[in-house]
Amino acid sequence: MASPRARTSLAEQVEELLADDGPLPIVVAGDPVLRRAAEPFDGQLEPELLACLIRAMRLTMHAAPGVGLAAPQVGVGLRIAVVEDPAPVPDEVRVARGRVPLPFRVLVNPSYEAVGTARAAFYEGCLSVPGWQAVVARHAEVRLRALDEHGRAVDEVLSGWPARIVQHETDHLGGTLYLDRAELRSLSSSDAMTRRWTQPTPAEAARALGFELP
Ligand code: ZN
Repeated sequence: MASPRARTSLAEQVEELLADDGPLPIVVAGDPVLRRAAEPFDGQLEPELLACLIRAMRLTMHAAPGVGLAAPQVGVGLRIAVVEDPAPVPDEVRVARGRVPLPFRVLVNPSYEAVGTARAAFYEGCLSVPGWQAVVARHAEVRLRALDEHGRAVDEVLSGWPARIVQHETDHLGGTLYLDRAELRSLSSSDAMTRRWTQPTPAEAARALGFELP
């Protein structure tokens, strides 16, 4: 529970952030806000201000473009994230990665746990680590528990790319970046990704760069 004073200053910070229209500046790696555990959302923002923050985060995610954005990535230390993936990918990529569309949703105070022991390893990137991608082996299937923006409980099992997105964004809220979980030998610049590693799976990259896949 935040103190009244903390409540005010967080709301003021968000009001200031939202003073200008348009996409919000995205915080990049090296800023401590990305390394702190965010505060659980507990009414620190009035419903109208929360709605404005969510709208701005969605706009920012679209503009980036990205498929998920956590509040600390716009400098706000609250356990809130938005996700949305229209998944405009070729069929072979869709099949290999399980990249199916994920409709827009808001995750408030999310947590996840593994369902089963299967892992899936693919290249991913982060708007807060621009210019790079790396392979992360993640739970293939997770149970997501959260609230939505109206305070309604969410409890569902996700697999494929939606499971990856939810794990990545929830990790942000605990101060974890995907690089903490990545195969560092897979690290590739955007240019290398475009020129070399567009295959549906990272098998060829694993052989050439020397890392293990699960
Ligand atoms: Zn990220």
